[in-house]
Amino acid sequence: MTITGRIKPPMGHDNGWWWQRAAEGVLAIQRCAKCGTLRHPPRPMCSECRTLEWDHVAASGRGTVASYTVLYHPRFPGYEYPLIIVLVDLDEGVRITAELKDCAPEDVRFGMTVTAFIHEDPDGFRLPMFRPAATGGQ
Ligand SMILES: [Zn+2]
Repeated sequence: MTITGRIKPPMGHDNGWWWQRAAEGVLAIQRCAKCGTLRHPPRPMCSECRTLEWDHVAASGRGTVASYTVLYHPRFPGYEYPLIIVLVDLDEGVRITAELKDCAPEDVRFGMTVTAFIHEDPDGFRLPMFRPAATGGQ
């Protein structure tokens, strides 16, 4: 078997909706329907009040880099190397891991501000990624 594109994440009952929202262009954050606590990644139960009901909000996409790593090897098909993976503290208060684009590995900094965008692979698969936030306004 030859893998020609990005390895797709498992999409099950508890998280398939999140990937669907990403495909629609939205970075979603799951929200407890009872106490309003935000959580990511998606999971069935609120860790604060154990409620199973939930909805979601659309993230602003703004955040800061809490940590990161730069991958050089092994090189899987469908990814661009060096591959920068960031752990981002979203302004809404949850953390998410994703690729950082439009940034050289030596320019990544802890605490740098980033903004999310929806990347589309050649095969049409869409997923959230980040890039350095524009400086100097807006
Ligand atoms: Zn709750």
